Amino acid sequence: MKSAPNPPAIHGETLASLTTRLQEHGQPAFRARQILDWLYKKRAAAWDDMTNLPRDLRAWLADTFDLVPSALILDRQSTDATDKLLLELRDRSLIETVIIRAPQVGVGMEHSRKTICISTQVGCAMGCKFCASGLAGLKRNLSAGEIVHQLIQVCRQEDARTPRARAELASFDNLVVMGMGEPLHNYDALICALTILNAGWGLGFGARRITLSTSGLVPQIRRLADEPLGFRLAISLHGATDEVREQIMPVNQRWPLAELLPAVKYFSEKHGRMITLEFILIAGLNDTSDQAGRLRDLARDLHAHVNLIPYNTVEGLPWQRPPLSRQQRFLQVLHDAGVSATLRREKGQDIAAACGQLRLKTEKERAARSPDGPATDAGAAVFA
Ligand code: SAH
Ligand code: SF4
Repeated sequence: MKSAPNPPAIHGETLASLTTRLQEHGQPAFRARQILDWLYKKRAAAWDDMTNLPRDLRAWLADTFDLVPSALILDRQSTDATDKLLLELRDRSLIETVIIRAPQVGVGMEHSRKTICISTQVGCAMGCKFCASGLAGLKRNLSAGEIVHQLIQVCRQEDARTPRARAELASFDNLVVMGMGEPLHNYDALICALTILNAGWGLGFGARRITLSTSGLVPQIRRLADEPLGFRLAISLHGATDEVREQIMPVNQRWPLAELLPAVKYFSEKHGRMITLEFILIAGLNDTSDQAGRLRDLARDLHAHVNLIPYNTVEGLPWQRPPLSRQQRFLQVLHDAGVSATLRREKGQDIAAACGQLRLKTEKERAARSPDGPATDAGAAVFA
């Protein structure tokens, strides 16, 4: 797997690691906080904007770190309040970051609830059969700095839109790690990035407002349960039996439900908080009353919330979403048993489906222009 571009993004440094680097360079420790303040509170776009730093320190920083590890190449705003940012990394890889605005009843869009959806990998190795992100396999992991910088890009867009939102990351309500990639397959960079997003010297974003979604990497779920920060967890279940799940999710062969469910239980017991089971409804595959009944039993046992997501079609894939009446019947089975469950209705709220498709389209266009476009290391040994 190729490594992240050099020099590394400064957004991957913690207060401790940056202090050490500066001290090794003969600088006083307080410089670290000044630099972080420029990054996260003032969102400096150039080293020379950091006017309270000596000139030679700015020159050293410029040689040592990358301040702009991604460039915004497309901002596609849809009418349904979803804003998709296509970002290009230093090696020309493309990733997507999505802003979803849900208007509050009775007030304008300015007061909408905002959810940010970030990516953790370029592509994905998990090979789920319904997903655009995994179609061409995994190209590489994002570095912690590249993960964090997505939020800087979002902040810049929001700053430009509403100056009042400036410096107030709290104006975002939720952060979901549901973009391209399997977050737990890039564990260390992910935890480092979320620590930075969460820290007071970073973006100060509360851990309880951060949700990680995983296709079910069992050892990492257990490891995550033991982390001190209390992030929320969502499991991409999509099948209530091994027989159905393994038809669309190869990960199920490595970690079938008999291993996944106890790990999820361990997580929710450790955190004392409800986890979410995501369940894409795909016509003729998992939308039966049998699956609904089994999902109901699993959700009850785990004391989990169920999020039903009508499948969003992906160009080139055969899957379809069931008709609305069938989706509602499925939901009713859960509600009848008192299970907490929601059915996503608006397309714009269907964040996940957005992720991966814009990148795929742009990659295809690029490949058409240049037949020797960048290759992809499909199918890394993730289940080893
Ligand atoms: N890799 C992680 C997180 C990214 S995918 C995971 O799989 O959980 C985020 C969510 O989007 C997952 O629940 C995934 O199954 C879902 N998803 C992927 N493609 C979709 C599609 N075409 N329609 C609806 N949901 C989709
Ligand atoms: Fe990867 Fe998640 Fe897509 Fe599966 S659904 S291929 S794990 S991004």
